[in-house]
Amino acid sequence: MKVDIYKKTAKDFKELPNLEDYDKTYRSFEWKHWRKELGWFDGKINAAYNAVDRHVDTWRKNKIALYWEGESGTTQQYTFEQVALNSNKFGNILKDFGVERGDRVFLFLPRIPELFFAFLGILKIGAICGTLFSAFQEQALEDRLGNSDAKVVITTAELKPRIDKVKKHLPNLKHILVVDTESFVKSFASASTELTIAHMEPDDYAFMLYTSGTTGKPKGVVHAHRAILQEYLTAKWVLDLKDSDTYWCTADPGWVTGIAYEILGSWANGVTSVVFGGRFDPKRWYQILEKYKVTVWYTAPTAVRMLMAGEIKHPTKEFDLSHLRHMCSVGEPLNPEAVKWGIKVFGRAFHDNWWQTETGAICIANLPCNDIKIGSMGKPFPGITAAIVDDHGRELGPNKEGNLALKPGWPSMMQTIWRRPQKYESYFVNKWYISGDRGWRDNDGYFWFIGRADDVIKTSGERVGPFEVESALVEHPAVVEAGVIGKPDALRGEIIKAFVVLDKDYFRHSGKSAKGGRIQNPDPGQARMTKEQEELLKEELSQYVKKHLAGHAYPREIEFIDKLPKTRSGKIMRRILKAKELGLPIGDTSTLEEY
Ligand code: ATP
Ligand code: MG
Repeated sequence: MKVDIYKKTAKDFKELPNLEDYDKTYRSFEWKHWRKELGWFDGKINAAYNAVDRHVDTWRKNKIALYWEGESGTTQQYTFEQVALNSNKFGNILKDFGVERGDRVFLFLPRIPELFFAFLGILKIGAICGTLFSAFQEQALEDRLGNSDAKVVITTAELKPRIDKVKKHLPNLKHILVVDTESFVKSFASASTELTIAHMEPDDYAFMLYTSGTTGKPKGVVHAHRAILQEYLTAKWVLDLKDSDTYWCTADPGWVTGIAYEILGSWANGVTSVVFGGRFDPKRWYQILEKYKVTVWYTAPTAVRMLMAGEIKHPTKEFDLSHLRHMCSVGEPLNPEAVKWGIKVFGRAFHDNWWQTETGAICIANLPCNDIKIGSMGKPFPGITAAIVDDHGRELGPNKEGNLALKPGWPSMMQTIWRRPQKYESYFVNKWYISGDRGWRDNDGYFWFIGRADDVIKTSGERVGPFEVESALVEHPAVVEAGVIGKPDALRGEIIKAFVVLDKDYFRHSGKSAKGGRIQNPDPGQARMTKEQEELLKEELSQYVKKHLAGHAYPREIEFIDKLPKTRSGKIMRRILKAKELGLPIGDTSTLEEY
């Protein structure tokens, strides 16, 4: 396999990154030395205090913590002090409703400022905050609120009817607070801004949320206040947040990235954050980057691929994106093509990093100070021991495929899976935390993603990861996205089947596709490819992958589809492609996008 290396040069750094020497730091690193930067001195902590309130005693008091912009263009802004005081109000209101330490309070809110205040307020009174993505429908809500025995749900008038429909099955749900009703607005206005923040043990639960549901039924992952330490330091070293930055994380707090890097870790660094409450739209996103002079941008592969395929081919010509200095990505494997596109278009690389809801914070990353091997997830964060192990938890050497595993004990490791202690136990084998992802490590200590354990394809005795086949397909100018599965085959065990989304311009415009390739049959008047043209293109794609990868790792079957099934957080759900292909039940679809 040919690896492209993106070497860091002076042009990548307008100023030196927060972490300058990875190897040296990794060798001498100890988590406990970094607590004091967070204001965590004695045994007790409260992540909400460490993230926000401690800034109120410093010059950051009047610094903007949050620039918020809604879909309609309405804007609001809040200083650190205002965020602290508004979250105190939420804490007081919840106390009045009888919320106590350890109670679960769930947020079913769009990305509005109240979400951020409420989250912090819940932590401040020692309750456990759960987040629910605002697109969830009744069944998804009932499952999560039922499993967690939530006492209170905070929502909006628009979303409330969905809770009302399932309320009768939720005997422990005592209150539904609706933030945009007149009565709530009134009680919020008169609520006290004085609140004694609960002193928590580092291991006391702070928040919980359900995994993305990519591989099956979502798991209720519970995190403790101590997670903030790793969230803080990874935000500082991986996202490279500095006081001078304006930072935009595009994730929703319904998922862990939105909690760790849009609330706790990012604000713990005292950074000014942008939150855009609206939907994905390339033009709007570039406008947000321009308008707020965003310097650090944290997003997801699916968004990068959609921007690549979007109408705007030269964003830096149409928008002033000159402030952008650092870009990161998480959530799915980031195809090399997407990294190369970033370098071409923005003059800088997206820095891929790997972690999970369960890990609570970034664990493997391309740090700003390290060169990037394009397609790799980078190296273990200081304080993290990562390895590739076999199914018995025995460590494998470099260049061997196996389970991506971590040595338990990192600060943001999940505390439990809510009410499923056996599920929790099942993550640990021979004193390793087994992530459920497959990968390998190279001689230089870079980690490479192969696929989810369930998704790895066994064809003619060889193991093939869907990611490399998808990445090879995405490199072809006709392809926007691809989802690859193993399809049972009498002869070969499995064959590789690819579901491919084509670039619509590839066929529509004669001559050149959006990504610079040539079309097969340029007839601009023709709306769709004929069957023969489709077959030709499938053959071309198969051959293309064959040429780029090993001879056995090419798709013997290709199907063109309009869009891939994805989770609401934008991850390709290969299990749904597979179930549909095999005519099997598709399982939990609570996080499935419209499909
Ligand atoms: P579920 O556990 O319910 O199936 P999920 O695993 O998608 O859903 P998350 O915890 O949101 O839920 O996602 C973590 C997973 O996302 C990782 O285990 C990995 O498969 C994938 N992932 C995250 N970042 C990367 C990355 N940089 N490269 C490759 N895969 C990644
Ligand atoms: Mg998972």
